[in-house]
Amino acid sequence: MTLETPTVEMHPQRWGDPAAATELPESARGLVELAFGLQDRPATPGTPPATALDESLLDGVREIVGAEHVLVDDETRALRTRGKSTPDLLRARAGDLTDAPDAVVRPDGHVEVAAVLAWADEHRVAVVPFGGGTCVTGGLAARRQGFAGLVSLDLVRMKRLLAVDDVSMTATLQPGLRGPEAEALLAEHGLTLGHYPQSFEHASIGGFAATRSSGQSSAGYGRFDAMVVGLTAATPTGSLDLGSSPANAAGPDLRQLLLGSEGAFGVITSVTVRVRRTPEVTTYEGWRWPSFDAGSDAMRALAQAGLLPTVVRLSDESETAINLADPSSIGGADDAGCLMITGYEGTAEQVTARRAAVTAVLDGLGGAALGEEPGQKWLHGRFDAPYLRDSLLDHGVLVETVETATFWSNRERLYAEVKAALLGALGEGSLVLCHVSHVYETGCSLYFTVATRQAEDPLAQWQVAKAAASDAMIAAGATITHHHAVGTDHKPWLAQEIGEVGVRMLRAVKAEVDPGGILNPGVLIP
Ligand SMILES: Cc1cc2nc3c(=O)[nH]c(=O)nc-3n(C[C@H](O)[C@H](O)[C@H](O)COP(=O)(O)OP(=O)(O)OC[C@H]3O[C@@H](n4cnc5c(N)ncnc54)[C@H](O)[C@@H]3O)c2cc1C
Repeated sequence: MTLETPTVEMHPQRWGDPAAATELPESARGLVELAFGLQDRPATPGTPPATALDESLLDGVREIVGAEHVLVDDETRALRTRGKSTPDLLRARAGDLTDAPDAVVRPDGHVEVAAVLAWADEHRVAVVPFGGGTCVTGGLAARRQGFAGLVSLDLVRMKRLLAVDDVSMTATLQPGLRGPEAEALLAEHGLTLGHYPQSFEHASIGGFAATRSSGQSSAGYGRFDAMVVGLTAATPTGSLDLGSSPANAAGPDLRQLLLGSEGAFGVITSVTVRVRRTPEVTTYEGWRWPSFDAGSDAMRALAQAGLLPTVVRLSDESETAINLADPSSIGGADDAGCLMITGYEGTAEQVTARRAAVTAVLDGLGGAALGEEPGQKWLHGRFDAPYLRDSLLDHGVLVETVETATFWSNRERLYAEVKAALLGALGEGSLVLCHVSHVYETGCSLYFTVATRQAEDPLAQWQVAKAAASDAMIAAGATITHHHAVGTDHKPWLAQEIGEVGVRMLRAVKAEVDPGGILNPGVLIP
Protein backbone atom coordinates (compact mmCIF):
# COMPACT_ATOMS: atom_id res chain seq x y z
CA MET A 1 0.00 0.00 0.00
CA THR A 2 1.34 3.40 -0.88
CA LEU A 3 0.52 7.08 -0.49
CA GLU A 4 -0.23 9.47 -3.31
CA THR A 5 -0.04 12.69 -1.28
CA PRO A 6 3.04 14.84 -2.02
CA THR A 7 5.46 15.42 0.84
CA VAL A 8 5.28 18.93 2.30
CA GLU A 9 8.68 20.59 1.89
CA MET A 10 9.89 22.72 4.79
CA HIS A 11 11.17 26.23 4.12
CA PRO A 12 14.98 26.02 3.86
CA GLN A 13 15.43 28.72 6.53
CA ARG A 14 12.56 27.82 8.87
CA TRP A 15 10.75 24.94 10.52
CA GLY A 16 7.70 23.15 9.20
CA ASP A 17 4.94 23.66 6.71
CA PRO A 18 5.41 27.17 5.21
CA ALA A 19 1.60 27.53 5.20
CA ALA A 20 1.56 27.14 9.00
CA ALA A 21 4.23 29.78 9.73
CA THR A 22 3.10 32.25 12.38
CA GLU A 23 4.03 35.72 13.52
CA LEU A 24 5.01 36.20 17.16
CA PRO A 25 1.60 36.19 18.93
CA GLU A 26 0.57 39.59 20.30
CA SER A 27 0.19 38.07 23.80
CA ALA A 28 3.86 36.99 23.78
CA ARG A 29 5.28 40.09 22.09
CA GLY A 30 5.15 42.29 25.19
CA LEU A 31 6.76 39.64 27.36
CA VAL A 32 9.52 39.00 24.84
CA GLU A 33 10.20 42.72 24.52
CA LEU A 34 10.38 43.05 28.28
CA ALA A 35 12.68 40.05 28.71
CA PHE A 36 15.02 40.40 25.74
CA GLY A 37 14.15 43.55 23.79
CA LEU A 38 12.97 43.18 20.23
CA GLN A 39 15.52 43.23 17.42
CA ASP A 40 14.93 42.91 13.71
CA ARG A 41 16.89 39.92 12.38
CA PRO A 42 15.61 39.16 8.89
CA ALA A 43 16.94 36.17 6.96
CA THR A 44 19.20 36.62 3.92
CA PRO A 45 18.63 34.41 0.88
CA GLY A 46 21.52 32.18 -0.19
CA THR A 47 22.58 30.15 -3.22
CA PRO A 48 24.35 26.79 -3.06
CA PRO A 49 27.82 26.58 -4.59
CA ALA A 50 27.98 25.12 -8.13
CA THR A 51 27.78 21.34 -8.18
CA ALA A 52 31.14 19.57 -8.08
CA LEU A 53 29.88 16.47 -9.90
CA ASP A 54 30.26 16.42 -13.66
CA GLU A 55 27.56 15.29 -16.05
CA SER A 56 29.29 12.11 -17.21
CA LEU A 57 29.64 10.93 -13.61
CA LEU A 58 26.00 11.71 -12.86
CA ASP A 59 24.93 9.73 -15.94
CA GLY A 60 25.92 6.58 -14.05
CA VAL A 61 23.46 7.26 -11.23
CA ARG A 62 20.79 8.44 -13.69
CA GLU A 63 20.89 4.95 -15.19
CA ILE A 64 20.07 3.50 -11.76
CA VAL A 65 17.23 5.74 -10.54
CA GLY A 66 16.06 7.48 -13.73
CA ALA A 67 17.17 10.91 -14.93
CA GLU A 68 14.17 12.67 -13.34
CA HIS A 69 15.31 11.48 -9.91
CA VAL A 70 18.78 13.04 -10.04
CA LEU A 71 18.32 16.72 -9.21
CA VAL A 72 21.02 19.35 -9.36
CA ASP A 73 18.95 22.54 -9.34
CA ASP A 74 19.77 25.09 -6.62
CA GLU A 75 16.32 25.00 -5.02
CA THR A 76 16.29 21.25 -4.43
CA ARG A 77 19.87 21.25 -3.20
CA ALA A 78 19.05 24.10 -0.79
CA LEU A 79 16.17 22.04 0.62
CA ARG A 80 18.55 19.17 1.39
CA THR A 81 21.15 21.31 3.18
CA ARG A 82 21.62 20.42 6.87
CA GLY A 83 18.79 19.87 9.37
CA LYS A 84 16.70 22.03 11.70
CA SER A 85 18.74 22.76 14.82
CA THR A 86 19.00 26.44 15.74
CA PRO A 87 22.63 26.55 14.47
CA ASP A 88 21.40 25.01 11.18
CA LEU A 89 18.70 27.69 10.94
CA LEU A 90 21.13 30.47 11.85
CA ARG A 91 23.49 29.38 9.07
CA ALA A 92 20.62 29.08 6.59
CA ARG A 93 19.24 32.47 7.66
CA ALA A 94 22.68 34.01 7.06
CA GLY A 95 22.49 32.70 3.48
CA ASP A 96 25.21 30.10 4.12
CA LEU A 97 24.49 27.07 1.91
CA THR A 98 28.08 25.84 1.70
CA ASP A 99 27.01 22.39 2.94
CA ALA A 100 24.55 21.90 0.07
CA PRO A 101 24.84 18.52 -1.67
CA ASP A 102 26.10 18.44 -5.25
CA ALA A 103 23.06 16.42 -6.27
CA VAL A 104 19.91 14.98 -4.75
CA VAL A 105 19.34 11.35 -5.74
CA ARG A 106 15.96 9.70 -5.15
CA PRO A 107 16.09 5.90 -5.32
CA ASP A 108 12.99 3.73 -5.12
CA GLY A 109 13.59 0.54 -3.14
CA HIS A 110 16.40 -1.45 -1.60
CA VAL A 111 17.89 -2.61 -4.91
CA GLU A 112 18.27 0.93 -6.21
CA VAL A 113 19.73 2.12 -2.90
CA ALA A 114 22.32 -0.68 -3.01
CA ALA A 115 23.18 0.18 -6.63
CA VAL A 116 23.59 3.89 -5.81
CA LEU A 117 25.96 2.98 -2.96
CA ALA A 118 28.03 0.80 -5.33
CA TRP A 119 28.19 3.69 -7.84
CA ALA A 120 29.19 6.14 -5.09
CA ASP A 121 31.83 3.78 -3.72
CA GLU A 122 33.36 3.30 -7.16
CA HIS A 123 33.51 7.04 -7.88
CA ARG A 124 34.39 8.24 -4.36
CA VAL A 125 31.19 10.18 -3.87
CA ALA A 126 30.04 10.81 -0.28
CA VAL A 127 26.42 9.83 0.48
CA VAL A 128 24.14 11.45 3.07
CA PRO A 129 20.89 9.50 3.64
CA PHE A 130 18.02 11.99 3.97
CA GLY A 131 14.73 11.11 5.65
CA GLY A 132 12.73 14.08 6.90
CA GLY A 133 15.62 16.50 7.39
CA THR A 134 14.64 17.28 11.00
CA CYS A 135 18.03 16.33 12.44
CA VAL A 136 19.21 18.65 15.22
CA THR A 137 22.77 17.38 15.70
CA GLY A 138 24.52 18.18 12.42
CA GLY A 139 23.99 14.64 11.12
CA LEU A 140 23.17 15.85 7.61
CA ALA A 141 26.29 18.00 7.27
CA ALA A 142 28.78 15.33 6.26
CA ARG A 143 32.41 16.06 5.41
CA ARG A 144 33.16 16.27 1.68
CA GLN A 145 36.94 16.74 1.73
CA GLY A 146 38.62 13.81 -0.01
CA PHE A 147 35.56 13.00 -2.14
CA ALA A 148 34.64 13.80 -5.74
CA GLY A 149 31.40 15.26 -4.42
CA LEU A 150 28.51 14.66 -2.05
CA VAL A 151 24.98 13.48 -2.79
CA SER A 152 21.89 13.61 -0.64
CA LEU A 153 20.21 10.20 -0.86
CA ASP A 154 16.63 11.34 -0.53
CA LEU A 155 14.35 8.46 0.49
CA VAL A 156 11.16 10.37 -0.30
CA ARG A 157 9.99 7.85 -2.94
CA MET A 158 10.15 4.96 -0.46
CA LYS A 159 6.78 5.52 1.20
CA ARG A 160 5.05 2.16 1.23
CA LEU A 161 3.48 0.08 3.94
CA LEU A 162 5.00 -3.20 2.80
CA ALA A 163 3.26 -5.68 5.11
CA VAL A 164 0.94 -5.98 8.07
CA ASP A 165 0.84 -9.01 10.35
CA ASP A 166 -2.09 -8.40 12.66
CA VAL A 167 -1.62 -11.74 14.39
CA SER A 168 1.90 -10.86 15.52
CA MET A 169 0.98 -7.13 15.56
CA THR A 170 3.84 -5.99 13.35
CA ALA A 171 4.03 -3.80 10.26
CA THR A 172 6.82 -3.34 7.75
CA LEU A 173 7.34 0.24 6.61
CA GLN A 174 9.61 1.90 4.09
CA PRO A 175 11.97 4.57 5.47
CA GLY A 176 10.71 7.63 3.58
CA LEU A 177 7.26 7.64 5.22
CA ARG A 178 6.83 10.75 7.38
CA GLY A 179 5.17 10.31 10.78
CA PRO A 180 1.62 11.29 9.69
CA GLU A 181 1.90 9.23 6.49
CA ALA A 182 2.87 6.10 8.42
CA GLU A 183 0.04 6.66 10.89
CA ALA A 184 -2.48 7.20 8.06
CA LEU A 185 -1.50 3.93 6.37
CA LEU A 186 -1.62 2.00 9.65
CA ALA A 187 -4.96 3.57 10.60
CA GLU A 188 -6.53 1.88 7.56
CA HIS A 189 -5.79 -1.40 9.40
CA GLY A 190 -6.99 -0.11 12.76
CA LEU A 191 -3.38 0.15 13.94
CA THR A 192 -0.99 2.77 15.29
CA LEU A 193 2.69 3.13 15.97
CA GLY A 194 2.16 5.69 18.73
CA HIS A 195 5.43 7.49 18.00
CA TYR A 196 4.95 11.26 18.34
CA PRO A 197 8.19 13.22 18.68
CA GLN A 198 7.72 16.98 18.42
CA SER A 199 9.11 16.67 14.88
CA PHE A 200 6.43 14.04 14.04
CA GLU A 201 4.88 16.00 11.14
CA HIS A 202 8.10 16.00 9.09
CA ALA A 203 10.43 13.30 10.42
CA SER A 204 10.60 9.90 8.72
CA ILE A 205 10.46 6.25 9.74
CA GLY A 206 14.05 5.71 8.57
CA GLY A 207 15.18 8.77 10.53
CA PHE A 208 13.44 7.55 13.69
CA ALA A 209 15.36 4.29 13.40
CA ALA A 210 18.68 5.86 12.41
CA THR A 211 18.62 8.26 15.39
CA ARG A 212 16.87 6.08 18.04
CA SER A 213 14.19 8.67 18.46
CA SER A 214 11.83 8.93 21.41
CA GLY A 215 8.28 10.30 21.16
CA GLN A 216 6.03 12.17 23.57
CA SER A 217 4.06 8.97 24.29
CA SER A 218 7.16 6.93 25.05
CA ALA A 219 5.88 5.96 28.52
CA GLY A 220 3.07 4.02 26.85
CA TYR A 221 4.45 3.00 23.46
CA GLY A 222 8.20 2.93 24.14
CA ARG A 223 11.12 4.50 22.31
CA PHE A 224 11.36 3.90 18.57
CA ASP A 225 14.30 1.50 18.94
CA ALA A 226 12.18 -0.58 21.33
CA MET A 227 9.47 -0.87 18.66
CA VAL A 228 11.74 -2.22 15.93
CA VAL A 229 11.74 -6.01 15.57
CA GLY A 230 13.43 -6.22 12.19
CA LEU A 231 15.10 -4.14 9.50
CA THR A 232 16.81 -4.28 6.14
CA ALA A 233 19.79 -2.12 5.27
CA ALA A 234 22.06 -1.60 2.28
CA THR A 235 25.78 -1.02 2.80
CA PRO A 236 28.53 -0.48 0.22
CA THR A 237 29.67 -4.07 0.87
CA GLY A 238 26.31 -5.88 0.90
CA SER A 239 22.87 -6.05 2.46
CA LEU A 240 21.54 -6.92 5.90
CA ASP A 241 18.17 -8.49 6.64
CA LEU A 242 17.75 -8.77 10.41
CA GLY A 243 14.95 -9.82 12.74
CA SER A 244 13.67 -13.31 12.09
CA SER A 245 12.12 -13.57 15.56
CA PRO A 246 10.88 -11.19 18.27
CA ALA A 247 13.92 -11.90 20.41
CA ASN A 248 16.95 -14.12 20.08
CA ALA A 249 20.22 -15.12 21.69
CA ALA A 250 22.09 -15.31 18.39
CA GLY A 251 25.02 -13.23 19.53
CA PRO A 252 24.91 -9.46 20.01
CA ASP A 253 21.74 -7.94 18.59
CA LEU A 254 22.81 -6.50 15.25
CA ARG A 255 19.49 -4.70 14.88
CA GLN A 256 20.64 -2.49 17.72
CA LEU A 257 23.93 -1.85 15.91
CA LEU A 258 22.06 -0.40 12.93
CA LEU A 259 19.56 1.52 15.08
CA GLY A 260 21.24 4.80 15.97
CA SER A 261 23.94 4.35 13.32
CA GLU A 262 22.89 7.65 11.67
CA GLY A 263 23.60 6.53 8.14
CA ALA A 264 27.26 5.77 8.93
CA PHE A 265 26.93 1.96 8.66
CA GLY A 266 24.24 1.61 6.02
CA VAL A 267 20.99 2.92 4.62
CA ILE A 268 17.94 1.49 6.39
CA THR A 269 15.58 0.49 3.60
CA SER A 270 12.71 -0.95 5.68
CA VAL A 271 11.81 -1.49 9.31
CA THR A 272 9.42 -3.98 10.85
CA VAL A 273 7.85 -2.43 13.91
CA ARG A 274 5.59 -3.59 16.70
CA VAL A 275 2.18 -1.89 16.33
CA ARG A 276 -0.84 -1.47 18.62
CA ARG A 277 -4.58 -1.19 18.00
CA THR A 278 -5.80 2.36 17.38
CA PRO A 279 -6.89 3.57 20.82
CA GLU A 280 -10.65 3.72 21.40
CA VAL A 281 -10.28 6.35 24.09
CA THR A 282 -7.72 9.09 24.69
CA THR A 283 -7.68 11.36 27.75
CA TYR A 284 -5.08 13.94 28.78
CA GLU A 285 -5.07 15.91 32.01
CA GLY A 286 -2.96 18.14 34.21
CA TRP A 287 -1.55 17.88 37.74
CA ARG A 288 0.12 20.52 39.85
CA TRP A 289 3.12 19.75 42.10
CA PRO A 290 4.59 22.04 44.72
CA SER A 291 8.09 21.56 43.30
CA PHE A 292 10.05 19.89 40.48
CA ASP A 293 11.49 17.44 43.03
CA ALA A 294 8.04 16.42 44.27
CA GLY A 295 6.75 15.90 40.73
CA SER A 296 9.86 13.97 39.70
CA ASP A 297 9.54 11.70 42.73
CA ALA A 298 5.93 11.03 41.74
CA MET A 299 7.02 10.06 38.23
CA ARG A 300 9.59 7.70 39.68
CA ALA A 301 6.95 6.15 41.94
CA LEU A 302 4.69 5.51 38.93
CA ALA A 303 7.48 4.04 36.82
CA GLN A 304 8.68 1.79 39.60
CA ALA A 305 5.15 0.60 40.39
CA GLY A 306 4.65 -0.33 36.71
CA LEU A 307 1.82 2.22 36.51
CA LEU A 308 2.94 4.66 33.84
CA PRO A 309 0.31 6.51 31.83
CA THR A 310 0.80 6.66 28.02
CA VAL A 311 2.09 10.24 28.31
CA VAL A 312 3.79 11.72 31.35
CA ARG A 313 5.84 14.91 31.39
CA LEU A 314 6.69 17.42 34.07
CA SER A 315 7.73 21.07 33.65
CA ASP A 316 9.99 22.70 36.20
CA GLU A 317 8.95 25.91 37.96
CA SER A 318 10.36 28.19 35.21
CA GLU A 319 8.79 26.28 32.34
CA THR A 320 5.47 26.16 34.17
CA ALA A 321 5.56 29.89 34.84
CA ILE A 322 6.34 30.64 31.18
CA ASN A 323 3.45 28.43 30.05
CA LEU A 324 1.19 30.24 32.45
CA ALA A 325 2.38 33.60 31.20
CA ASP A 326 -0.14 33.07 28.40
CA PRO A 327 -3.21 34.83 29.80
CA SER A 328 -5.55 32.17 28.46
CA SER A 329 -3.76 29.52 30.56
CA ILE A 330 -5.02 27.82 33.68
CA GLY A 331 -4.27 29.01 37.17
CA GLY A 332 -2.15 31.97 38.22
CA ALA A 333 1.63 32.15 37.99
CA ASP A 334 1.99 32.76 41.73
CA ASP A 335 0.87 29.33 42.82
CA ALA A 336 1.87 27.63 39.60
CA GLY A 337 4.31 25.14 41.11
CA CYS A 338 5.13 22.55 38.47
CA LEU A 339 2.75 21.34 35.79
CA MET A 340 2.58 17.64 34.95
CA ILE A 341 0.68 16.28 31.95
CA THR A 342 -0.62 12.74 32.05
CA GLY A 343 -2.33 11.01 29.14
CA TYR A 344 -4.06 7.66 28.71
CA GLU A 345 -4.74 5.79 25.46
CA GLY A 346 -6.30 2.38 24.90
CA THR A 347 -9.63 0.63 25.26
CA ALA A 348 -12.19 2.27 27.53
CA GLU A 349 -11.52 -0.41 30.11
CA GLN A 350 -7.74 0.01 30.01
CA VAL A 351 -7.95 3.78 30.25
CA THR A 352 -10.37 3.71 33.17
CA ALA A 353 -8.30 1.20 35.11
CA ARG A 354 -4.93 2.86 34.49
CA ARG A 355 -6.25 6.35 35.15
CA ALA A 356 -7.77 5.25 38.46
CA ALA A 357 -4.56 3.54 39.57
CA VAL A 358 -2.36 6.50 38.58
CA THR A 359 -4.74 9.01 40.17
CA ALA A 360 -4.59 7.10 43.45
CA VAL A 361 -0.78 7.21 43.46
CA LEU A 362 -0.55 10.91 42.48
CA ASP A 363 -3.25 11.90 44.99
CA GLY A 364 -1.44 10.03 47.69
CA LEU A 365 1.83 11.83 46.91
CA GLY A 366 0.35 15.32 47.15
CA GLY A 367 -0.42 16.15 43.52
CA ALA A 368 -3.35 18.50 42.80
CA ALA A 369 -5.56 17.37 39.93
CA LEU A 370 -6.23 20.18 37.41
CA GLY A 371 -8.67 18.31 35.18
CA GLU A 372 -8.59 17.88 31.40
CA GLU A 373 -8.15 21.48 30.25
CA PRO A 374 -4.34 21.62 30.61
CA GLY A 375 -4.12 18.19 28.96
CA GLN A 376 -6.15 19.33 25.95
CA LYS A 377 -4.13 22.51 25.72
CA TRP A 378 -0.90 20.53 25.65
CA LEU A 379 -2.31 18.11 23.07
CA HIS A 380 -3.36 20.86 20.67
CA GLY A 381 -0.20 22.91 21.03
CA ARG A 382 2.35 20.14 21.17
CA PHE A 383 3.76 20.67 17.66
CA ASP A 384 3.70 24.50 17.78
CA ALA A 385 6.92 25.40 19.61
CA PRO A 386 9.25 25.05 16.59
CA TYR A 387 7.16 27.61 14.67
CA LEU A 388 7.48 29.99 17.61
CA ARG A 389 11.27 29.49 17.48
CA ASP A 390 11.30 30.96 13.96
CA SER A 391 9.32 34.04 15.05
CA LEU A 392 11.67 34.52 18.01
CA LEU A 393 14.74 34.22 15.77
CA ASP A 394 13.19 36.86 13.51
CA HIS A 395 13.05 39.16 16.56
CA GLY A 396 16.57 38.57 17.78
CA VAL A 397 15.89 35.96 20.46
CA LEU A 398 18.14 32.91 20.50
CA VAL A 399 16.15 29.75 21.33
CA GLU A 400 17.52 26.21 21.42
CA THR A 401 17.15 22.95 23.31
CA VAL A 402 19.49 20.35 24.80
CA GLU A 403 18.58 16.98 26.24
CA THR A 404 20.18 14.28 28.33
CA ALA A 405 19.26 11.41 30.68
CA THR A 406 20.43 9.88 33.90
CA PHE A 407 19.45 7.55 36.74
CA TRP A 408 16.94 8.80 39.31
CA SER A 409 19.58 9.06 42.03
CA ASN A 410 21.52 11.56 39.86
CA ARG A 411 18.58 13.60 38.54
CA GLU A 412 18.88 16.52 40.92
CA ARG A 413 22.59 16.95 40.34
CA LEU A 414 22.24 16.77 36.55
CA TYR A 415 19.40 19.29 36.54
CA ALA A 416 21.29 21.76 38.72
CA GLU A 417 24.61 21.46 36.90
CA VAL A 418 23.31 21.69 33.32
CA LYS A 419 21.10 24.62 34.24
CA ALA A 420 24.01 26.41 35.93
CA ALA A 421 26.27 25.73 32.93
CA LEU A 422 23.72 27.19 30.51
CA LEU A 423 23.01 30.22 32.66
CA GLY A 424 26.71 30.77 33.24
CA ALA A 425 27.45 30.71 29.52
CA LEU A 426 24.47 32.75 28.36
CA GLY A 427 24.57 35.30 31.14
CA GLU A 428 22.15 37.45 33.11
CA GLY A 429 18.63 37.72 31.79
CA SER A 430 18.67 34.38 29.99
CA LEU A 431 15.92 31.87 30.52
CA VAL A 432 16.60 28.18 31.10
CA LEU A 433 13.51 25.99 31.26
CA CYS A 434 13.38 22.26 31.78
CA HIS A 435 11.00 19.33 31.70
CA VAL A 436 11.22 15.64 32.41
CA SER A 437 10.35 14.30 28.97
CA HIS A 438 10.75 10.51 29.21
CA VAL A 439 10.74 8.19 32.20
CA TYR A 440 11.95 4.70 32.96
CA GLU A 441 11.98 2.54 36.08
CA THR A 442 15.60 3.50 36.62
CA GLY A 443 15.77 7.10 35.48
CA CYS A 444 14.57 9.87 33.21
CA SER A 445 15.44 12.28 30.47
CA LEU A 446 15.78 16.03 31.09
CA TYR A 447 14.99 18.42 28.24
CA PHE A 448 16.17 22.02 28.55
CA THR A 449 14.98 24.99 26.50
CA VAL A 450 16.96 28.22 26.55
CA ALA A 451 16.04 31.70 25.41
CA THR A 452 18.30 34.73 25.44
CA ARG A 453 18.93 37.94 23.55
CA GLN A 454 20.91 37.23 20.39
CA ALA A 455 24.47 38.56 20.44
CA GLU A 456 26.12 39.98 17.32
CA ASP A 457 27.20 36.44 16.39
CA PRO A 458 24.44 34.14 17.74
CA LEU A 459 26.06 31.02 16.35
CA ALA A 460 29.24 31.55 18.36
CA GLN A 461 27.11 32.57 21.35
CA TRP A 462 25.23 29.25 21.20
CA GLN A 463 28.33 27.15 20.61
CA VAL A 464 29.82 28.36 23.91
CA ALA A 465 26.61 27.47 25.78
CA LYS A 466 26.26 24.12 24.04
CA ALA A 467 29.82 23.15 24.96
CA ALA A 468 29.25 24.20 28.58
CA ALA A 469 26.04 22.15 28.81
CA SER A 470 27.64 19.13 27.14
CA ASP A 471 30.66 19.27 29.47
CA ALA A 472 28.28 19.46 32.44
CA MET A 473 26.33 16.40 31.27
CA ILE A 474 29.46 14.29 30.94
CA ALA A 475 30.91 15.60 34.22
CA ALA A 476 27.66 14.63 35.96
CA GLY A 477 27.95 11.09 34.58
CA ALA A 478 24.93 11.48 32.27
CA THR A 479 24.56 10.82 28.57
CA ILE A 480 25.36 13.37 25.88
CA THR A 481 22.04 12.54 24.24
CA HIS A 482 18.88 10.67 25.18
CA HIS A 483 17.14 10.94 21.80
CA HIS A 484 18.65 13.56 19.47
CA ALA A 485 21.57 11.28 18.49
CA VAL A 486 25.23 12.20 17.91
CA GLY A 487 25.63 13.68 14.43
CA THR A 488 28.60 16.03 14.31
CA ASP A 489 27.54 18.29 17.18
CA HIS A 490 27.76 15.66 19.95
CA LYS A 491 30.70 13.77 18.47
CA PRO A 492 33.37 15.59 20.54
CA TRP A 493 31.79 14.13 23.72
CA LEU A 494 31.04 10.61 22.50
CA ALA A 495 34.45 9.12 23.33
CA GLN A 496 34.08 10.25 26.95
CA GLU A 497 30.77 8.42 27.12
CA ILE A 498 31.63 5.12 25.41
CA GLY A 499 35.38 4.95 26.06
CA GLU A 500 38.34 4.23 23.82
CA VAL A 501 37.42 0.59 23.21
CA GLY A 502 33.89 1.65 22.31
CA VAL A 503 35.26 4.09 19.73
CA ARG A 504 37.51 1.38 18.26
CA MET A 505 34.51 -0.96 17.96
CA LEU A 506 32.52 1.66 16.05
CA ARG A 507 35.48 2.34 13.77
CA ALA A 508 35.98 -1.39 13.15
CA VAL A 509 32.35 -1.87 12.08
CA LYS A 510 32.60 1.18 9.84
CA ALA A 511 35.78 -0.10 8.21
CA GLU A 512 34.14 -3.48 7.54
CA VAL A 513 30.81 -2.34 6.07
CA ASP A 514 31.98 0.91 4.45
CA PRO A 515 35.73 0.60 3.75
CA GLY A 516 35.67 3.60 1.40
CA GLY A 517 34.08 5.70 4.13
CA ILE A 518 31.47 7.14 1.73
CA LEU A 519 28.51 6.92 4.12
CA ASN A 520 27.98 10.14 6.08
CA PRO A 521 31.71 10.89 6.47
CA GLY A 522 32.45 12.74 9.69
CA VAL A 523 29.09 11.90 11.30
CA LEU A 524 28.77 9.85 14.52
CA ILE A 525 32.17 8.12 14.63
CA PRO A 526 34.94 9.99 16.47
C1 LIG B 1 11.55 20.91 16.25
C2 LIG B 1 12.14 19.55 16.47
C3 LIG B 1 11.62 18.72 17.43
C4 LIG B 1 12.17 17.46 17.65
N1 LIG B 1 11.62 16.64 18.58
C5 LIG B 1 12.12 15.40 18.76
C6 LIG B 1 11.52 14.52 19.71
O1 LIG B 1 10.53 14.84 20.36
N2 LIG B 1 12.07 13.29 19.84
C7 LIG B 1 13.14 12.89 19.09
O2 LIG B 1 13.57 11.76 19.24
N3 LIG B 1 13.73 13.72 18.21
C8 LIG B 1 13.25 14.95 18.01
N4 LIG B 1 13.83 15.78 17.10
C9 LIG B 1 15.00 15.33 16.35
C10 LIG B 1 14.67 14.66 15.00
O3 LIG B 1 13.35 14.94 14.61
C11 LIG B 1 14.87 13.16 15.11
O4 LIG B 1 16.25 12.91 15.23
C12 LIG B 1 14.31 12.35 13.95
O5 LIG B 1 14.33 11.00 14.33
C13 LIG B 1 15.06 12.50 12.65
O6 LIG B 1 14.28 11.92 11.62
P1 LIG B 1 14.40 12.45 10.12
O7 LIG B 1 13.61 11.56 9.26
O8 LIG B 1 14.09 13.87 10.04
O9 LIG B 1 15.93 12.19 9.85
P2 LIG B 1 16.98 13.09 9.08
O10 LIG B 1 17.10 14.41 9.72
O11 LIG B 1 16.69 13.07 7.63
O12 LIG B 1 18.30 12.25 9.36
C14 LIG B 1 18.83 12.10 10.65
C15 LIG B 1 20.11 11.26 10.56
O13 LIG B 1 19.79 9.92 10.20
C16 LIG B 1 20.33 9.58 8.91
N5 LIG B 1 19.27 8.85 8.21
C17 LIG B 1 18.03 9.30 7.88
N6 LIG B 1 17.33 8.32 7.29
C18 LIG B 1 18.13 7.23 7.25
C19 LIG B 1 17.98 5.90 6.76
N7 LIG B 1 16.86 5.47 6.19
N8 LIG B 1 19.02 5.05 6.89
C20 LIG B 1 20.17 5.45 7.47
N9 LIG B 1 20.37 6.68 7.94
C21 LIG B 1 19.36 7.56 7.83
C22 LIG B 1 20.72 10.90 8.27
O14 LIG B 1 21.79 10.78 7.37
C23 LIG B 1 21.07 11.74 9.50
O15 LIG B 1 22.39 11.48 9.93
C24 LIG B 1 13.29 17.04 16.87
C25 LIG B 1 13.79 17.90 15.88
C26 LIG B 1 13.23 19.15 15.68
C27 LIG B 1 13.78 20.03 14.61
